[in-house]
Amino acid sequence: MAELEKDCLFCKIIRGEVPSYTVFENNDVKAFLDISQVTKGHTLIIPKKHLVNFFDYSQEDAARFLQYIPLVAQAIKKSDPTIKGMNVEVNNGEIAGQVVMHSHIHLIPRRGENDPIS
Ligand code: AMP
Repeated sequence: MAELEKDCLFCKIIRGEVPSYTVFENNDVKAFLDISQVTKGHTLIIPKKHLVNFFDYSQEDAARFLQYIPLVAQAIKKSDPTIKGMNVEVNNGEIAGQVVMHSHIHLIPRRGENDPIS
């Protein structure tokens, strides 16, 4: 808990103070549904350590937290046979569209031509 920030929204989600729908969780990361679904199953993966974005990562942080991206992507795809692909996106820094200042990776399932485009 020492690695979490008191007023950070995603740290509050990790602590269970803000509700979320968990997709995957272990000691290092949490993956949960985005509150504003671009497509069904839109998921965010976050490190359980408060890191603002990739500019904040050490090599050790990268190895520890980013290894879970393929695992969670595969689990989501496996859970829904209609998923054909997935956008894996990061808004890194305010100027790049980052709104929540706790590192997160968007996994946005793609099923076909009628998917909304983010
Ligand atoms: P970004 O623009 O990359 O910082 O994305 C932040 C994402 O967090 C947006 O897609 C929001 O819909 C999502 N978000 C904000 N609040 C919550 C919440 N309480 N639970 C789940 N997702 C959230």
